[in-house]
Amino acid sequence: MTESFDVIVIGAGPGGYVAAIRAAQLGLKTACVEKGSTLGGTCLNVGCMPSKALLDSSEKFEDAQHAFAAHGIDGKVTLNLSTMIKRKDEVVKGLTKGIEGLFKKNKVTWLKGAATITGKHEVSVGKEKFSAKHIIIATGSEVVSLPGITIDEKQIVSSTGALSLAAVPKHLVVIGAGVIGLELGSVWRRLGAKVTVIEYLDRITPGMDNEIAKQFQKVLEKQGFEFKLGSKVASAKKNSNGGVDVVVEPAAGGKPETIKADVVLVAVGRKAYTDKLGLENVGINTDNRGRIEVNDHLQTSVPHIYAIGDVVKGPMLAHKAEDEGMLVAEQIAGQKPHINYDAIPGVVYTHPEVATVGKTEEELKTAGVEYRVGKFPFLANSRSRATGQTDGLVKILADKKTDRVLGVHIIGPQAGNMIHEACIAMEFGASAEDIARTCHAHPTYNEAVKEAALAVDGRPIHI
Ligand SMILES: Cc1cc2nc3c(=O)[nH]c(=O)nc-3n(C[C@H](O)[C@H](O)[C@H](O)COP(=O)(O)OP(=O)(O)OC[C@H]3O[C@@H](n4cnc5c(N)ncnc54)[C@H](O)[C@@H]3O)c2cc1C
Repeated sequence: MTESFDVIVIGAGPGGYVAAIRAAQLGLKTACVEKGSTLGGTCLNVGCMPSKALLDSSEKFEDAQHAFAAHGIDGKVTLNLSTMIKRKDEVVKGLTKGIEGLFKKNKVTWLKGAATITGKHEVSVGKEKFSAKHIIIATGSEVVSLPGITIDEKQIVSSTGALSLAAVPKHLVVIGAGVIGLELGSVWRRLGAKVTVIEYLDRITPGMDNEIAKQFQKVLEKQGFEFKLGSKVASAKKNSNGGVDVVVEPAAGGKPETIKADVVLVAVGRKAYTDKLGLENVGINTDNRGRIEVNDHLQTSVPHIYAIGDVVKGPMLAHKAEDEGMLVAEQIAGQKPHINYDAIPGVVYTHPEVATVGKTEEELKTAGVEYRVGKFPFLANSRSRATGQTDGLVKILADKKTDRVLGVHIIGPQAGNMIHEACIAMEFGASAEDIARTCHAHPTYNEAVKEAALAVDGRPIHI
């Protein structure tokens, strides 16, 4: 007999598992279909969490090698890579098991296998069919490669392979200067690799405020990163010496050169994943990038079938997927939730971190919005001086007439935590003056946010 649910969620990444838990909390009979052997999707298994585990371990290694001595802590440290990778795997295991526990606690049924939508209210998993009043598609995204490059996940790797290399490569070539390439490049550079990043555009981290991206590039170069910007990779092929030949030519055209690498990381982006999902069975439309088309309520062309997370438009970020999961579950339960897409933070978990929310200076210029800028460098922040983490700045963009905060961009220590002060300010429609007049504890990195807010009005104290 066909089992019926109020809600069937397809995919148990951060979008899907959060949607399922929230729907169950709201009293809806909920199932979540996941084809992987563990819950948590890209984020927990091969994305956010393993990368952050390795970023943390590698930062500790680098600090112990190069930063501790200045604090009067001496001693030689050595790298045990297999222990580091094992710890990362344990972190992943603990987190994915944790989601299983949350499913049990909330009475979400995990349907194991790949789902196909076989009718407007029907989902098939293998030979079994299930009916649902509402379906939420949360099938996420997959890695994309480039023509002429075959990923083997050993020497020519995607982010997934780069999370489990068997040895530290002497020379890692990263194709793509986006967030994932720079984070994973940081991991292997800290562990001893020479890292060369090849980027088609003439800048790193496309979409990020230009001034911040330039600072970021300088900081990374100081750490040893080499960038080849405005360059196109024509091919990457294994050679007879056990390495990889990467053929690079100027993006504008010109003479190609061959770069020798031990490992190549292809980090040129991800695309929406809808393989064998059966969208055609119910007439759900996708756009020219393969993303499922949705309206402002995240409904597809079939109103009781929703889509969320990486499989729809918007930033490919776990917290965006989670918020969309909550929104859809609450809508199904009759509530009227809301997401402010102008206040979704983005963080690069390098050292220092980069965190941004709202509009960039370039976006404001293009939109013809008049604004004021306030900046404050961490070099003038007392906590940064105490910890020796003085690279970077806080930059606040506020409307020229109303002083409303339109964008906040931070490169500096713990920027990923600090940005939430700006997110809350923006959610509440705060002005730069509101931030400037809010008491900030001393000595904290967040005082740099207050100073940048004071600087919007030309009255910072400590510079
Ligand atoms: C290396 C890396 C680092 C990242 N770091 C960050 C970070 O620090 N912060 C951040 O916000 N984001 C980060 N991301 C992005 C983040 O992982 C994604 O934005 C997020 O996982 C998207 O969530 P989702 O639920 O939409 O999809 P996913 O997490 O991709 O989950 C989709 C799930 O659906 C399942 N599925 C697909 N089709 C079917 C089917 N037909 N039937 C059943 N199951 C199916 C898949 O197996 C998968 O488990 C990172 C990504 C990578 C690759």
